[in-house]
Amino acid sequence: MPELPEVEITRRGIEPYLKGNVITGVRVSEPRLRWPIPRNLGARVTGRRIVQVARRGKYILIECSGNGRPGWLILHLGMSGSLRIMGSSIKAQRHDHFDLLVGKRLLRLRDPRRFGAVLWQGGDVARHPLLAELGAEPLEDAFTGAVLHAATRGRKSAVKLALMNASMVVGVGNIYANESLFHARIDPRTPAGRLSRARCDALAAAIKSTLTQSLAAGGSSLRDFVHSDGSSGYFQQQYYVYGRAGLPCRNCGTPIRLLRQGQRSTFYCPVCQK
Ligand SMILES: [Zn+2]
Repeated sequence: MPELPEVEITRRGIEPYLKGNVITGVRVSEPRLRWPIPRNLGARVTGRRIVQVARRGKYILIECSGNGRPGWLILHLGMSGSLRIMGSSIKAQRHDHFDLLVGKRLLRLRDPRRFGAVLWQGGDVARHPLLAELGAEPLEDAFTGAVLHAATRGRKSAVKLALMNASMVVGVGNIYANESLFHARIDPRTPAGRLSRARCDALAAAIKSTLTQSLAAGGSSLRDFVHSDGSSGYFQQQYYVYGRAGLPCRNCGTPIRLLRQGQRSTFYCPVCQK
């Protein structure tokens, strides 16, 4: 599943080919994604100029001017989606559901499991229901231990589950929740509201560094976003606890433990994470 670093790398990869250009049309071969692609999307976006490609959480936001009221295309990669820039003459294949045509190039959404989304919001994109309730952006300077501390007060849920709740902080999926808690040496079962300010400082720093390292690893794959072969481009990294149940902790050698929290796998070191 594309996590926040993949989405941010995708944003960086596609923006140079879109920004400043005029949308010349859309091609929809399968509108039934997580939500249906709006029927009139082509009429709404054709002729508009792309102002920027932004991101909020795991949503890619394409700002469009012109045609009267400005608006935004909202894209989500779902469970299996990927976006690629390619020549407009390259034919769509089986799982290619949506193209945004931009002159001689196009932006293509490939999404085998169809949990992705292509939506339109006229006016202020922050007011869209999918975005309005989103929490802090972990890579922004404004996300600090103080913010995390304030947001977790009164929360009885396990810190691992609280981290994965997008109304508190966005884009910390299962992998990064596991890894960040390991680096901050926090037991994933700890009630979120019981974390001290110092532990929130350590956790916020661990979230930032985990995501930043993943971004750095993905930076080398930027060129893949203009390849036409449609390879997924998700990047693999060496993890400390994620996917390592029973293997020795990279810090102390104790076997990594596995438990289930909210239907998701939690991996942790019982010695390093207290
Ligand atoms: Zn350990």
